[in-house]
Amino acid sequence: LGATHLRAIKVRTGREGIEIVSRTRLKVNEKNPKAVCRIIARALEKAGGPGQTVGVAAAAQLSADSRMVLNSPNYGWRNFDFATMLEETLGTRVIVDNDINAAAVAEAEYGAGRGFKSVLTVLLGSGIGAGLVLDGNLYRGATGVAGEIGHVKIRGPRSRRCGCGQRGCLEAYVGGINLAARLREDLERGVDSSLQEMFRDDPSRISTALMEKAALSGDRYAKRIWGQVAGMLGDSLANAVTVLNPDVLILGGGGFLHCPHLRDHVGTRVKERALSACGLVLNVRTAELGDDAGALGAAFLADKEHGVKLKRRYV
Ligand SMILES: [Zn+2]
Repeated sequence: LGATHLRAIKVRTGREGIEIVSRTRLKVNEKNPKAVCRIIARALEKAGGPGQTVGVAAAAQLSADSRMVLNSPNYGWRNFDFATMLEETLGTRVIVDNDINAAAVAEAEYGAGRGFKSVLTVLLGSGIGAGLVLDGNLYRGATGVAGEIGHVKIRGPRSRRCGCGQRGCLEAYVGGINLAARLREDLERGVDSSLQEMFRDDPSRISTALMEKAALSGDRYAKRIWGQVAGMLGDSLANAVTVLNPDVLILGGGGFLHCPHLRDHVGTRVKERALSACGLVLNVRTAELGDDAGALGAAFLADKEHGVKLKRRYV
């Protein structure tokens, strides 16, 4: 369940592993919880019925038991029992999880983390988040918000404000929405850059990918920002690797997938800057499951909750 669309997949699980039977994508043009539940019901009907159990991955902060949406900036929901309302609408068991957690589980089970014991997945998109999977189990932390790497502090309390309300968070500098806003501010101030033409044409097109493109073509301003972003990401992820010592670090999300140079640079910098005992053995991989990851992870978590033991294979 994204901000403006939902993507539904139906999967069949068995001895062979997990197989995607159908895919559906629907526009979500409502914010009212009941209306959103009805849109989910319609998507499941299109996908061939809700099946035995339903998993939903949502871009939201959830309670430790994953039933309550504590905060969903996309829908304006706060402290509301989404799982129960959806179970009543669908008449079947529902599990809800955070979209980054779900994608991290899917990458660990079926994607770039297959076969590793400890998998740290970092997704860079409109924001930035991470998920840690240990021996097939998602690590949630005491209140269910483990992995919120976007809100580690890289600047002091007088720096840029983040969507979480605090200042100096990594996300305030490298998250796609915040980075684009910062680029637009600089361009509006008249900074000398090849991005000015695009900015005058259509300011909404300014993105991390365009910044990387301009930096590669030699634009001095874009190069400076690119270097800053790469350094901030590399050092923050190196710190996470030093603390957690995972077998593999998976880099995914549109920000990394559309900026291959940024991704490569960050991977190299993490290995250099993490404590060498962690960095030397670290495998850095690119996410493999793309847009399916969130839905596939939600299906995996729903099936796991339902008591089915899945094999580590993605058909
Ligand atoms: Zn923050």
